Amino acid sequence: MTVATLDQIDHELASGFRWLRFADVLEKTYGREFARARIRLSLFWAFVGTFIYDLVFFGDVTMMHDVFPQLAFVRFCIFTPYAFIAVWLVRRRPTALNYDLLAISVCVLGGFLPMAASVESQSPYFFVYQNGNIATLLFFVIALQPRFPAIVLGLAALCAVHFTLIQMNGSLDAVTFSGVVTFFVTLAIFLALSAYFLERKDRLNFLNRMRGEWLQAELRQQSERDELTGLYNRRSLNRISKSVWAGPARAPVAVIMLDIDHFKLYNDVHGHVEGDACIRRVCACVAEQVSELGAAFRFGGEEILVLLPGSDAVTAQETAEQLRLAIEASAIPHSGLAEGGVVTASLGVSVASRGASSLEDLVRAADAALYDAKRGGRNMIAFRTPEPPGADQLQLAS
Ligand code: GH3
Ligand code: MG
Ligand code: MG
Repeated sequence: MTVATLDQIDHELASGFRWLRFADVLEKTYGREFARARIRLSLFWAFVGTFIYDLVFFGDVTMMHDVFPQLAFVRFCIFTPYAFIAVWLVRRRPTALNYDLLAISVCVLGGFLPMAASVESQSPYFFVYQNGNIATLLFFVIALQPRFPAIVLGLAALCAVHFTLIQMNGSLDAVTFSGVVTFFVTLAIFLALSAYFLERKDRLNFLNRMRGEWLQAELRQQSERDELTGLYNRRSLNRISKSVWAGPARAPVAVIMLDIDHFKLYNDVHGHVEGDACIRRVCACVAEQVSELGAAFRFGGEEILVLLPGSDAVTAQETAEQLRLAIEASAIPHSGLAEGGVVTASLGVSVASRGASSLEDLVRAADAALYDAKRGGRNMIAFRTPEPPGADQLQLAS
């Protein structure tokens, strides 16, 4: 999923989005949130709407006696099933467009059906459909709240259906008819305008929320991650290690300390800008290798600490060897070394159970092992256990 940038959000806020439309990425996110929020309530409104709609059945019995069977048919056999089937379909394909179509079709059909069924009626009460359709207009705009273009379309369609069927019924004289038209058009304009301003406020809230979430994520990123490499920083090491050490005391935990070989020379030969790029590449390689096993932290300049919860000595050494090989295989040229030389790294590994050693013990032992690897010739791994104190186990592999 593409995420909007802060610039895009700020641009929309500055533009005022008078046309109630954002640029592509934001519009898609807004549409998704709009659809999710509306469709969550769609079944509730289907029950409320059809319940009220079908209650009018009692009015049909007393007022529209001559067309009562037709009215019962359109209410119970057409409208009610349509409303629930349409809601079911939209819940299966929950897009903003489908929701808008649902709202328009339900309301226009709801307004059309009873009037169409009683257009030939001789009942003097045909005018009661004014009330029914006013309620439909309000339900459409206030309860269903589709997006603004759908509101304009739906209001126009409902008014058109209403005026046409009154004309066809012919029970209202010209003056009363023009009064009805004036009233409906005025109501539709008020409803459309208030829907416009409501949607604008809704969109403003959405942008402000997106902005807040963006800044919060950025702040979290800055406080947790190293700016140059994107690895966790040392502050995160304390936080993450606390949660690791909260696990079972007997479970093993491993620490790998990695340091790039001859990096001062790399800076001297290639320059610090290239040096930064080299650190970034090595860190990306480490992050990729350990992403499933643990977490990588930028411990110092070109030193990386890898924390591997649950890794025993064998797994930790295998992981360290994979890291060493992956960095070598990245083939980052190091012109300070012999002809064809590439950037390599040395790694110190230490493992203990969480109950027996602290993070500091493990880091100290891994650091000492790293020093062993450097002394052993670089581009190799060395292993030390943090206990018993003073033990100097050295295993070299290359
Ligand atoms: P060794 O093989 O023993 O590790 O030799 P080395 O030259 O790599 O020695 P050391 O690890 O002590 O050198 C670290 C160098 O890394 C020193 C410093 O100039 C450089 N360095 C530290 N942080 C950065 C950084 O953010 N960017 C760049 N370009 N260089 C850095
Ligand atoms: Mg170094
Ligand atoms: Mg170093």
